[in-house]
Amino acid sequence: MAQVIDGKAISAQIKEELKEKVAKLKAEGKEISLAVIQVGNDPASSVYVNNKKKACEFIGIRSLAYELEESISEKELVELIEQLNEKEDVHGILVQLPLPAHIDEDKIIKTISPLKDVDGFHPQSVGALCIGQKGFVSCTPAGIIQLLKRSGIEIAGKECVVIGRSNIVGKPMGILMLRENATVTIAHSKTKNLKEVCKRADILIAAVGKPKMITGEYVKEGAVVIDVGIHRNENNKLCGDVDYEDVYPHCSAITPVPGGVGPMTIAMLMNNCVESVQ
Ligand code: NAD
Repeated sequence: MAQVIDGKAISAQIKEELKEKVAKLKAEGKEISLAVIQVGNDPASSVYVNNKKKACEFIGIRSLAYELEESISEKELVELIEQLNEKEDVHGILVQLPLPAHIDEDKIIKTISPLKDVDGFHPQSVGALCIGQKGFVSCTPAGIIQLLKRSGIEIAGKECVVIGRSNIVGKPMGILMLRENATVTIAHSKTKNLKEVCKRADILIAAVGKPKMITGEYVKEGAVVIDVGIHRNENNKLCGDVDYEDVYPHCSAITPVPGGVGPMTIAMLMNNCVESVQ
């Protein structure tokens, strides 16, 4: 029977640990503040933003909400971020993506000070990760490392295949696995013989953005399978990039969707907020 990796329980454990750390920091007179900027009122973004606010509340982090009109100009948004960069009592700045089409996301990400870049998207944060220096790490990949470690899964020396090369998941995931001494392959839409490549993996991480694409045919017997995808299926139920029922009999451990990688992203965001003050 494969081990089902419980992301809900692991993220709850991390949040409890962070709550204790924040209480200690408070006792030393240090209070953490996170500025959360949302532009427009896209319903999915509102759900994410509310979940982040709730997590802040639970842990004891002050969240400062900036709910901005969809029509705000890029210049105005840049000015707001520059002001927040200067504020000593703001430790982290988070801009909920996606932004409206008239605002250049890259420019906004680059405007956030790397010292307050709790999402880990700034080119300086990504560069620091690549060369093994201190900096904020993108939350979803960082959460996957925690899932593996806290489930007792060894990474060093293992063959790891990451499917997907996006800047926020696939690439940082590959670099983090390399940092943990795995032998890493990053597969993508132009990879030839994807099934054979995936079958090499002791640890297979699917961040491909295609519902249930990864079936048992992609999985080596006894592999660990991590599913980053989030989709709604034809019955409006959540599913991942991995065909769970088909893959389960072949693997030694697997993350479910929901309740696997998803809950870890916010936990790691909270972790980055705590690190921002330390
Ligand atoms: P993306 O669309 O930016 O990247 C997908 C990647 O998959 C691309 O690099 C592409 O080269 C590769 N790809 C596409 N089709 C392929 C194919 N047929 N064969 C091989 N490779 C292929 O997506 P993303 O932002 O990296 O997100 C990936 C998935 O993870 C999505 O389902 C997204 O919703 C989910 N996600 C979940 C969380 C979370 O917290 N759980 C966070 C971020 C993203």
